[in-house]
Amino acid sequence: MIEIKLNNTLTGKKEVFLPIHKNEVRMYNCGPTVYFFPHIGNMRSYILADILRRTIEYSGSKVKQVINITDVGHLVSDGDEGEDKIEKSAQKEGKTAFDIARFYENAYYQDLKDLNIKSDDTKFPRATEHIKEQIEILKILEEKGFAYKTSDGLYFDTSKFKDYGKLGNINIKEQKEGARIETNIEKRNPSDFALWKYSPSASGGEKRLQEWESPWGVGFPGWHIECSAMSRKYLDQPFDIHTGGIDHIPVHHNNEIAQSECAFGVPLANFWLHNEFITVEGEKMSKSLGNIFTISDLKKRQIHPLAFRLWLLSGHYRSPMNFTWDAVLGAHKTLEKLIFEFDNLSKEDIDKETIEKFESFLGDDLDTPKALALLHNAFNLKKSKKTIQEMDKILGLNFSFLSKKIKENISDEVMELKNERDTARKEKNWQKSDELREEIEKEGYLLEDKNDQSILRKNLSSLI
Ligand SMILES: [Zn+2]
Repeated sequence: MIEIKLNNTLTGKKEVFLPIHKNEVRMYNCGPTVYFFPHIGNMRSYILADILRRTIEYSGSKVKQVINITDVGHLVSDGDEGEDKIEKSAQKEGKTAFDIARFYENAYYQDLKDLNIKSDDTKFPRATEHIKEQIEILKILEEKGFAYKTSDGLYFDTSKFKDYGKLGNINIKEQKEGARIETNIEKRNPSDFALWKYSPSASGGEKRLQEWESPWGVGFPGWHIECSAMSRKYLDQPFDIHTGGIDHIPVHHNNEIAQSECAFGVPLANFWLHNEFITVEGEKMSKSLGNIFTISDLKKRQIHPLAFRLWLLSGHYRSPMNFTWDAVLGAHKTLEKLIFEFDNLSKEDIDKETIEKFESFLGDDLDTPKALALLHNAFNLKKSKKTIQEMDKILGLNFSFLSKKIKENISDEVMELKNERDTARKEKNWQKSDELREEIEKEGYLLEDKNDQSILRKNLSSLI
């Protein structure tokens, strides 16, 4: 059992985590908007959620986990103006909104799988399948006087919620609308946000690809309300932990809190965790710089997704990280080496001292850099397989599985080359032996020489 301390964005303090229900932790992770492939920065949030889930499970609790799928309502500006990301993508690709959303939702699941992110019993509710639940909350907000109508939709009046902006202590007065594409002069306060937006068809214009009837007119829900509705439906309110990227603190998460607390009079979640961003080669990821990379991009460059996971864990989730191809390639080589070494470790029992340290690092606000340093140390000191496997329950680098995989289905031709090389070595024909090694490596294999034996394994790239 580990005591877990987490840095709570809500209080700005590191606090001992205590769940509401005994032996069941309820966690909500803000999920992807499925209009395009998630990039590596997006995936950092789900690695955080995964490390957190594994740490809680390791400490003996079940985790009830919900990750929402945003398939409507997220506008290009991240605010209340501009096009809907899904509709824009559908028009660009000449597909229906439904097809776009399902396609990229599946791409997201593939990324989760590639990164060994646990999701077997995770719930992935879709916004479009919870319109009724969203409308129900909007009705309550309107009845209680927190909502008002404008010519383009129903808005939340943030001046009616005295705690507005409490998450991360956002200074509302300093928040300007400058970054928005348009400014809505009908809004009572700049921080007010859309709960429901009318479709152009509500005033005789064109129909949207996705729109629904509501008490306020045909339209679609604002981006934030789905999280309030679906977290409540599946996890109740308050629930234990809510996570997301730091970009969500000022607007999206404060808006979720405002809606949920004003509608139901109780907190939304007790703990809020936020992960920092990834920059790429020192620059912010952006379309214009062409530096938005995905997990498939890593795979195309022969980098195993778990090498990216290893690289990510070398930084604390609350520290910004700078992605470079060199660094992630280095992580790939390191992981490959560790997988080979894993095979050579003893079958002795768990090294208790190492594991106690490991638990204390994870329990201290998920300090993965320290946990990884300890892992490397355990390899250097040739601790047992079981010790590494115990750490891997949380790190999720899949040592047992990968070390099996690199020995499976070795082709006959390569086996023959290996035998030929073994003979060359016995005959001290070093030139031939080197040439054969090169040939073997070209086929995606690696050789490890041990006395007069050689061990043949696939390289890590061949497992992608
Ligand atoms: Zn959310």
